Amino acid sequence: MTGTVTNWAGNITYAAKELHRPHSLDALRALVADSAKVRVLGSGHSFNEIAEPGADGVLLSTAELPPVIDVDTTARTVRVSGGVRYAELARVVHAHGLALPNMASLPHISVAGSVATGTHGSGVANGSLASVVHEVEIVTADGSTVTIGRGDDRFDGAVTSLGALGVVTTLTLDLEPGFDVEQYVFTELPLAGLDFETVAATAYSVSLFTDWRASGFRQVWLKRRTDQPLPDFPWAAPATEKLHPVPGMPALNCTEQFGVPGPWHERLPHFRAEFTPSSGTELQSEYLLPRPYALDALHALDAIRTTIAPLLQVCEVRTVAADAQWLSPAYGRDTVAAHFTWIDDTEAVLPVVRAVETALDAFDARPHWGKVFTMPAPVLRERYPRLGDFRELARTLDPRGKFANAFVRDVLGD
Ligand SMILES: Cc1cc2nc3c(=O)[nH]c(=O)nc-3n(C[C@H](O)[C@H](O)[C@H](O)COP(=O)(O)OP(=O)(O)OC[C@H]3O[C@@H](n4cnc5c(N)ncnc54)[C@H](O)[C@@H]3O)c2cc1C
Repeated sequence: MTGTVTNWAGNITYAAKELHRPHSLDALRALVADSAKVRVLGSGHSFNEIAEPGADGVLLSTAELPPVIDVDTTARTVRVSGGVRYAELARVVHAHGLALPNMASLPHISVAGSVATGTHGSGVANGSLASVVHEVEIVTADGSTVTIGRGDDRFDGAVTSLGALGVVTTLTLDLEPGFDVEQYVFTELPLAGLDFETVAATAYSVSLFTDWRASGFRQVWLKRRTDQPLPDFPWAAPATEKLHPVPGMPALNCTEQFGVPGPWHERLPHFRAEFTPSSGTELQSEYLLPRPYALDALHALDAIRTTIAPLLQVCEVRTVAADAQWLSPAYGRDTVAAHFTWIDDTEAVLPVVRAVETALDAFDARPHWGKVFTMPAPVLRERYPRLGDFRELARTLDPRGKFANAFVRDVLGD
């Protein structure tokens, strides 16, 4: 490979011997069929070695394939290439008067890469981004295409797949009529006396942010659909200026606040497509656990906040509705997600990541597949009741493990 290829954060330099960016589906098929080990790189926003094929493998990017974004306004669906990023997809969907129900905090990420790791936004009734996928087309190990849609026995393993089944070339997503959103930011929500369920349900999407330097939450972001009631939020004070969730970062990078209505795709993400999302110099971790444990888990984090705070830029707490994807961190349970944006110092951060995992151990936490975690594979395997089904599916579609890198083999126990 000429030059080095890193992930977005720069903490992973891929060891792969080759990076290929095929320009046609035929070239992609031939490359897959002729290679012994392949992993697909999406937009590279994961923070761990999930996309690493190993030194003897091929890293394949679908970014140069002719992009497909075909909206069907009658069926309310869009068929989109896996390598397309949400920002581009959302603009086209919006232009047709339609919408995705939810987005992640940033629109910079690819569709296939996001759903492969269970990426999510927030909202008690909003599932992960994978939950609106209803069909995937996958180029499998021999270069042929398999189409797997909702209703197929394999479907619940085929979307949040960790990239282990093949190259997802296109996905079909369900859409809904377009809607507008207003965003309101509040400051200083106490943890003492917090009614988490009520707070999390006050708006379409709710995020709580803290630096854990003090107990409680420094900011609360409410995203209200204009076709739903105005939120009443008596527990914290309205912000007096536009804010960025990461202390010291410019608010200009963030989506509009102060209740200014705007289209769904310009309010559901926190960060604007044309700016660097988050702080840009960071590592991230996230743990997803059953929502009934939310308050106890927040108190467990509060109890170790003096360990967390020195390495932390910001912690965000969101909710995700249960979904049916076997490897989704929200599989089978309404979920609360505790996210950590750390400083970009792996050595210093890892012991604190371990401390967070210990604090959350009693709450059946599952790590975000695309972020930094240290939870050992046997523990992961216990926390995914359908992991065995996924292993079988992977063996059927990819009998020689062409798409199984060290990360995936570890998770599957192969
Ligand atoms: C600043 C920032 C903010 C973030 N905010 C959120 C958030 O709000 N919510 C959240 O849940 N996560 C968030 N993340 C994490 C991010 O959404 C995930 O890491 C996601 O997987 C990134 O998508 P990607 O396209 O960059 O995938 P990559 O990191 O490139 O790849 C991820 C996985 O997908 C596989 N893959 C990619 N493309 C394909 C394909 N075409 N076919 C088969 N497999 C494929 C790869 O092999 C790999 O296994 C954030 C990350 C960053 C950097």
